[in-house]
Amino acid sequence: MNCIFCRIANHEVPAETVYETDTVLAFRDIHPKAPTHVLVIPKVHHTHVAALGPEDNELKIALHDAISQIIRDLKLDESGCRVVANLGANGGQEVAHLHYHILGGRRLNWPPG
Ligand code: 5GP
Ligand code: ZN
Repeated sequence: MNCIFCRIANHEVPAETVYETDTVLAFRDIHPKAPTHVLVIPKVHHTHVAALGPEDNELKIALHDAISQIIRDLKLDESGCRVVANLGANGGQEVAHLHYHILGGRRLNWPPG
C-alpha cells in the first residue's frame, strides 16, 4: 500500500520523531499549523478512529499513553493544547492512516473552520 504514514512508520521516509514504541510513532507535522504540531500514529495501518474495534483495545491504550506522555514531555499540559483526529471528507482528513494531531504553543480558535 502506498501510504505515506506507513512509510514513515517503517522508517522508509524520514520524519522528526518525538516518541516511539513498538506500536506507536509520533513525529512533527511537515506543515505545522501551530508552534507545536505533532502527529501520533499507530505503526500498523488503520484508516481512522472509527476503524478501531474492541480487538484494538491494547493499541488504543498505547496511543492514549503516547498522547499523554508527549503532552507532558513538551510541557503542553501547562499552557494547554488540542488533540484532534480528523475523519473522512467532512473532517478534512488528507492522509487515510489514523493519526492524532497534538497542537499547541498558541491560542487555538474554537470552533475550527
Ligand atoms: P489530516 O488532514 O489528514 O488530518 O492531516 C494530515 C497531516 O499530515 C497534515 O497536517 C500534513 O501537513 C501532514 N503530513 C502530510 N504528509 C506528511 C509527511 O510526509 N511528513 C510529515 N511529517 N507530515 C505530513
Ligand atoms: Zn498507512
